[in-house]
Amino acid sequence: MFADLLRRMQVQDDPRIVAVGDAVESDGVCVSTNPTTGQPLAGVRMDSVEDYEQTAARAHEAFLQWRSVPAPVRGQAVRAIADELRRHKEDLGALVSLEVGKIRSEGEGEVQETIDIADFAVGLSRQLYGLTMPSERAEHRIEERWHPLGPLGVLTAFNFPNAVWGWNAMIGAVCGDSIVWKPSLMAPLTAIATNAICARVLEGLGHPPIFQLTIGTDDVVGERLVDDRRLPLISATGSCRMGRIVGQKVAARLGRCLLELGGNNALIVEPDADLSLAIPSIVFGAVGTCGQRCTTTRRLLVHESIAHDVIDRLVSAYRQVRLGDPLDPDTHVGPLISERAVEGFERAVALAQEQGGEVLVGGERAQVEGLGGHFVQPTIIRAPASNDLPIAMEETFAPILYVFSYRDLDEALAMHNSVSQGLSSAIFTRSLLAAERFTSERGSDCGLAYVNLGTSGAEIGGAFGGEKDTGGGRESGSDAWKAYMRRQTVSIHFGSTIQLAQGIRFDQ
Ligand code: NAD
Repeated sequence: MFADLLRRMQVQDDPRIVAVGDAVESDGVCVSTNPTTGQPLAGVRMDSVEDYEQTAARAHEAFLQWRSVPAPVRGQAVRAIADELRRHKEDLGALVSLEVGKIRSEGEGEVQETIDIADFAVGLSRQLYGLTMPSERAEHRIEERWHPLGPLGVLTAFNFPNAVWGWNAMIGAVCGDSIVWKPSLMAPLTAIATNAICARVLEGLGHPPIFQLTIGTDDVVGERLVDDRRLPLISATGSCRMGRIVGQKVAARLGRCLLELGGNNALIVEPDADLSLAIPSIVFGAVGTCGQRCTTTRRLLVHESIAHDVIDRLVSAYRQVRLGDPLDPDTHVGPLISERAVEGFERAVALAQEQGGEVLVGGERAQVEGLGGHFVQPTIIRAPASNDLPIAMEETFAPILYVFSYRDLDEALAMHNSVSQGLSSAIFTRSLLAAERFTSERGSDCGLAYVNLGTSGAEIGGAFGGEKDTGGGRESGSDAWKAYMRRQTVSIHFGSTIQLAQGIRFDQ
């Protein structure tokens, strides 16, 4: 099946892909493993320093041509890319499922997200508006122009191996930039296929090769890309640990960084909440993608008057969750990405118990018949009565939901905002006052705030990103495109006498 997928996407002869189905790690070759079975999918040849240099030089060369292509023409190219992605949505989605273990609808949903942002980018290509300002001087005009920025460096996390690049690449492309993409070594095949499909479309239209891919280790390729002065913007999606390193390195060379880092997202359930909406939203938010979304619901804050009821309903819903092969349509939850992730899950559960937490459901690694992969049981852990549970302050990339109870909304908001990350947040309530309070300047301190919706599953139309240790970046819709361009303030004088601003006189 895997070989057929590669063939249909026309990447079976990509020189990077070696030893399909039978790969072992060796010098210069990483192995992409199917987390559902623990078996190798293929080996992937990694770039050397020289390879990287050539790739970055190609991206720079392509940028010098692409920046002069009119933006609406760039938009037409992105429209053709969206059409081609539609044709390959099923295959690319299945590859995402094979490589990172997402269930099929989520794998395809990810490709849909890239298609959506491409559609958005097509419209944007005719709307890269600049402002005009009245000048304080007669016969002067001031305006802002938005110019292409340069080749972008894009680092992506394993858990969104297609869409995160899509957000950056589709917007970057209409903005006139080229892209050097360094994907996670846990999902190189999705990157090869995605990049190839999009690059082919541009080649067919006679455009320069703006989509460049570099696959390699962080020390050979990743750090070189981060330090590369040819790349004025590094857009980095991944852990807070990575963001701290990358942010400092890019700042040291006075480059620009767009950081999309970890989350520790909470959902508040008020006493008047409609539980028929809240319960499925909590379950999807906490166990979807096996807890491996940056927006996964990790902390549940429930009003003490309904805590018992909410917990009962959740435990019973968790018992219905079906683990299994992500490509089986009956499966709700696939595996974690690796054995290391399973160990991280076990460590967090053990620590939570040491700290007084009580496992209400799950808590252990799971076996799925016929599959040897990295499965764990979706887990709910109730915090001790003191609400003191230090492990819940960290992001463990696994399906663990910590449950806390609170007395009033002030207390809930204080608990909500007490973590170092600030990505996504949600409240379930029928009260206008509580909803407004939650989304006010005194409410959630996160980049994303939902009312009567769960924490995960953002649409592309809004700007996506978070505050505090989540890094402050914004991608996707709204005016996030401005990060991918350089702003020029242009002043034009059309009179016959020089006038200085602020009334300064300099007569000779
Ligand atoms: P990671 O930080 O291990 O790796 C992310 C990417 O950065 C990879 O491509 C990796 O190779 C690269 N990288 C790591 N260290 C680097 C260095 N020193 N120099 C250059 N490149 C380096 O993250 P992961 O395990 O792949 O993904 C999970 C994390 O990503 C979670 O914390 C999750 O919350 C976060 N995430 C955030 C968002 C968001 O939009 N905020 C989206 C998806 C994932």
